[in-house]
Amino acid sequence: MPVESFIQPSESKLTIEKPVKEKPKIEELTTIERPGRNQEQEESNDLPKQKTKRKTSKAKAEPQIKSPNRTITLIITEKPQAAMKIASALGNARKLSENNVPYYELERNGKQIIVASAVGHLFGLTYVKGQTGWPIFNLEWKPSYTEKHAAFTKNYYNLLKKLSVKAKEVIIATDYDVEGEVIGWNVLRFIVNQETAKRMKYSTLTKPELEKSYDNPLPTLDWGQAYAGETRHKIDWLYGINLSRALMSAIKKTGSFKILSIGRVQGPTLKIIVERDREINNFKSQPYWQIFATTQNTQLKHPKDIFDKKELKDFENIKKGIAETTEKNESYMPPHPFDLTTLQREAYAKHKISPSRTLQLAQSLYLDGLISYPRTSSQKIPKEIEPKKILSKLSKRFNEVKIATRQNPIEGEKSDPAHPSIYPTGDFKKLSDEEENLYLLIVKRFISCFCPDAKGIAKRISLIADNGKNFTANGLTITNNGWLDVYPSIMEERAIPTITGPVNIDKIDFEEKETQPPKRYTPASLISLLEKKNLGTKATRSSIVDTLFDRGYLDGKSIEATPLGVHLIESLEKYSPIIIDENLTRDVEEKMEEIQNSKSEWPELENKTISQVEKLITDISKEFKINELSIGKQILAGVEGLRAQQKEDSTIMPCSKCNIGNLQIRFSKKTRSYFVGCSNYPQCTAVHSLPPNALIKKTEKKSDRNLPILQALRKGKRPWEFEFNPNWRAENPNYQKQESQEETKKE
Ligand SMILES: [Zn+2]
Repeated sequence: MPVESFIQPSESKLTIEKPVKEKPKIEELTTIERPGRNQEQEESNDLPKQKTKRKTSKAKAEPQIKSPNRTITLIITEKPQAAMKIASALGNARKLSENNVPYYELERNGKQIIVASAVGHLFGLTYVKGQTGWPIFNLEWKPSYTEKHAAFTKNYYNLLKKLSVKAKEVIIATDYDVEGEVIGWNVLRFIVNQETAKRMKYSTLTKPELEKSYDNPLPTLDWGQAYAGETRHKIDWLYGINLSRALMSAIKKTGSFKILSIGRVQGPTLKIIVERDREINNFKSQPYWQIFATTQNTQLKHPKDIFDKKELKDFENIKKGIAETTEKNESYMPPHPFDLTTLQREAYAKHKISPSRTLQLAQSLYLDGLISYPRTSSQKIPKEIEPKKILSKLSKRFNEVKIATRQNPIEGEKSDPAHPSIYPTGDFKKLSDEEENLYLLIVKRFISCFCPDAKGIAKRISLIADNGKNFTANGLTITNNGWLDVYPSIMEERAIPTITGPVNIDKIDFEEKETQPPKRYTPASLISLLEKKNLGTKATRSSIVDTLFDRGYLDGKSIEATPLGVHLIESLEKYSPIIIDENLTRDVEEKMEEIQNSKSEWPELENKTISQVEKLITDISKEFKINELSIGKQILAGVEGLRAQQKEDSTIMPCSKCNIGNLQIRFSKKTRSYFVGCSNYPQCTAVHSLPPNALIKKTEKKSDRNLPILQALRKGKRPWEFEFNPNWRAENPNYQKQESQEETKKE
């Protein structure tokens, strides 16, 4: 993939590992030069609920106008769609709008309520001006609209500010998790200028749950979540800016330039991938044999793989044996309900939907009120969600509910204090194909948790040859499908006869095989592994993998490190292994869990954790600076390798116009689309356009006419392949130029 094309001007700054949550994607980018206040007061430890701590290090809340007309209750959500859902759940809502930002007005029990929304994060961290080089540690929250890419958030900011002046009471109703809490807290302290507020907690955007949540709000913000979230933002930011500055400065030492960045979780993740690549490259395949015996038309297998060829002759003359057949009744429980990682894994296995796409789709199903909140680790179905009511609603559409006769649902071991497992609400709506696939998976998984076990008879033939070698065959007959009729699952049935007593062995077969290298990770297996290792969070794992791709460190459908990724890891292993040490980032993860679960002293815990990270980064910087030039040289070799590979990946055929250069897929920053140009440019000006709004990649395939087949990838659509024909225009003289972009494209 031509990575250069992904590096947009705004990325010449720096990213942190961002949760995938913000839909209008507000990247957590920070500029290098930016005004701010210094942060002497950074160390003051006021109580969270009493004062805004670290006052001067945060964005300044504008002075509040004391208004005598504070009459309304203001409910603040995370996204416009949630505001709409809450408003219509609570009463007869009227939609209003200001500068294209919608908000809602309603009355409930004589109270005047306004529901308005943020649009994901309205504030981002940035560093305080005047800090040069690295490491730097002073940072502050700033309104996101000051960054060009998030300018659209300004109208939301302004509207909330205006409405807050009229508010007698404020209720934060952002998504109930770490990110949602930070979003709500920032709005509260920097826009509303208030220390705490009531908090609505809900897992579905359905009328009954929203009403219940409004009638019984939590008395304050969830400070554990708020501080854990702020700590994560700050730590990721500190890692992000300092490590990126370190890499850039190392590259600069070699007299070259390349934008590079690596995050706190990205580093160890990349290392895991590079290590797998090494295992595969160093893998020496070994031959081995599997041995089968056939008797009464049934094939039985020797349980051991034979690696020593000499052992094979022990099997050659087997003619007779004694067989025994046993039968056992087996039960197979339904699988547990979906937590996010399991859903991502299943969506990939069953529909090849990538984990990050699954999260996006699930988020949209949630905002439509069709499923519960997807960012959950829970595998539980609590009684409070009234599952029987949900089943009854689902029964209107899904006949499978008839099978759901189990009193208590199957549950998994993991739980989550904030949300139950992912479950359907029972409401319906017309969906796109992709959404529908994911939705059906969730519905069927939920129903199957209430279905009876599948039952079967497991049959086993054991045969002992007269020389003592043994063979077995296993059969399975399903006698009762139970949940298998609901949730798509593969249980291979195999009928085998009953064989007992002395038998003749008709034939011995030797099958030669080779040991296989370990498999490359797929996006789905990688996020499962990250979860197992406790790296990143459920909300960030899928975007960590995406970011590594965008940065040019990874390539391919099954994940492989690029030359740049490999060289980066090699140089860090040699000179600064601490940066890619997964134990370290896991420690940080545990610290944040500790803050989240703590009942008090959150600011102290936050400060302590951040100080530890600052010390660590200081240590890294000392070690790193000694070896800067060597690190730079090694990374530069990677950059050159990556460029060579990209050139190879984008070259599609020789140029017939000049007969010197090659036609290559290129990206135009100006039109923000791909085109085909000659490598001999500017001497040769051959140019062909390509389908717009798509990422175009070369494939290894050729058409019938021996022309290259290219692949167009569009967000949310299936990849589409087309033949690239440089002579298309000449062959279609009657085709009026509808749009020049159409010239090479035909379906
Ligand atoms: Zn040419």
